[in-house]
Amino acid sequence: MGSLFAEWAAAADAVRATSKKLEKMRVLAGYLGPLADDDLAVAARLFAGGPFPRADQRVLAVGWSALVDATRERSRAAADAIGAAYQRHADLGDVAAELIVDASPDPRPLTLRDLADAFDEIAATRGTSAKRALVRALLARASGSEARYLVKIVGGDMRIGLREALLEDAIARAFGRDREAVARANMLGGDVGETAVRAKHDTLAAAAFAHFAPVGMMLATPVLELAEVAKRFPPPYYVEDKFDGVRAQAHKSGDRVELYSRTLDRVTDRFPELVAPLRDVPGSFVLDAEILSFRDGRAVPFTEFQTRLGRKAVTDELRAELPATLMAFDILERDGEALLERPLAERSRILRALPLAGPVRTPDLRVLDLAGDELVASLEREFGASRARGNEGLMVKDPRSPYRPGRRGMEWLKVKRALRTLDVVVTAVEWGHGKRRGVLSDYTFAVRGERGELRNIGKAYSGLTDREIAEMTEHFLAHTVADRGRVRAVEPDTVIEVAFDQIQPSERHDSGLAMRFPRIVRLRPDKPVAEIDTLATARAIAAREGGAT
Ligand code: AMP
Repeated sequence: MGSLFAEWAAAADAVRATSKKLEKMRVLAGYLGPLADDDLAVAARLFAGGPFPRADQRVLAVGWSALVDATRERSRAAADAIGAAYQRHADLGDVAAELIVDASPDPRPLTLRDLADAFDEIAATRGTSAKRALVRALLARASGSEARYLVKIVGGDMRIGLREALLEDAIARAFGRDREAVARANMLGGDVGETAVRAKHDTLAAAAFAHFAPVGMMLATPVLELAEVAKRFPPPYYVEDKFDGVRAQAHKSGDRVELYSRTLDRVTDRFPELVAPLRDVPGSFVLDAEILSFRDGRAVPFTEFQTRLGRKAVTDELRAELPATLMAFDILERDGEALLERPLAERSRILRALPLAGPVRTPDLRVLDLAGDELVASLEREFGASRARGNEGLMVKDPRSPYRPGRRGMEWLKVKRALRTLDVVVTAVEWGHGKRRGVLSDYTFAVRGERGELRNIGKAYSGLTDREIAEMTEHFLAHTVADRGRVRAVEPDTVIEVAFDQIQPSERHDSGLAMRFPRIVRLRPDKPVAEIDTLATARAIAAREGGAT
């Protein structure tokens, strides 16, 4: 019959129950080791938190409210019991585990295969009610403990204190392989399930870069002042403009070209004019890039370019008004060879040897082999020049560094505009006053703490357009987790960029900090919640301000 989901859930419980990495790894390796190939692949993917391999573009598309309803129905809990439990847990899966106490109405036990089949079916099913029915049928067979993980996986928010790196280590341990080899195969092939099976059969080395399986994008660490750059790594420094557009990963193999967003979604159709120029470049490749628009040689401000992103259909008019340019700043694969482990200096040479044309370009690269005041003065000039070209600031990169997918390290530094904005997530909203009566216009927002928890840091009246506020009101009404009259706690899924004058210690919020004069600069729908700024960054800003006054 195949392996039972209850056994998987018991292993997940054991992983959650300990904070010791070694213990987590021991549990996982012990559980994964004896599984048959098919079950092993499914089990590993579920531990990675997704219903499908990363390389698989399918989505379940089960809405939050459908999950809440299914949980309510299965638990037979009152509506306010769900809201109250959510306040305690801030996680719908944990809510399900607490409220589902009776035996499952459908006694057939769930196997891993059942889950995989159900996910295939949910993804292939169109229409909300049909999807809901499938989720309900799954929950009907689940115990409280199984429901915890089903809801987490379907809701796309696993959080059981298991990073993918630890899962990779556990796979290495289960089958006596090298952890680096496991990590490499997983990153290239885009499927931790397939990687586990490869580890079992000792075929990790044969994993190749899978085209059209986007890899996580390397992230940058903000630099609060230019003198900080020299502390991060020694010269030389690779300096490029920081373009204020949207991140994209471009894949080409054969005649096929696809573009992926930083959330790894396929966005090719949004930029049809980039397809032919990319296809015209011979051979296969994967590029890391920023897409933006230029007018008279200057970058069009993001807020203007954004109007093009919101539209479903890209009309000829929009394309003429805001033509897309792809600024390729890195290359991850070329003609069948993965380049991630090569130093940036080498990747940069390979990138710049590509015969690019038209709207596909590479940014100007400045190499600063300087230190001390000379470096700061030079960076200052470059920053000013970049701003004069309409760009956001600078990216400073270490030419010795490999490409680290999905990692934020000190090898890429970003020097931004005012240096006084943070990307935060909205946690609560309030009805506005006066002209803003009837819309949810006041937002409370949070940064991410050390253990991934959200810590409120400020509250601001929306600086968004009336249309955006109306749209956000609708969104928040549908994603309310607790309605307390004036104030509503909302599902933390909306990332915004907030500008401020200062950050100071304060008792008002649970971060222990508060922003002075926070202003919402814009919505950041392109940015996943996992990538918002951290409490550590906010503290660093506060410490610096404290020192300055
Ligand atoms: P932020 O979105 O503020 O965290 O800044 C990092 C983002 O800057 C990256 O995700 C890219 O989308 C963007 N970016 C713009 N220009 C560059 C560049 N030359 N190199 C790397 N990233 C860039």
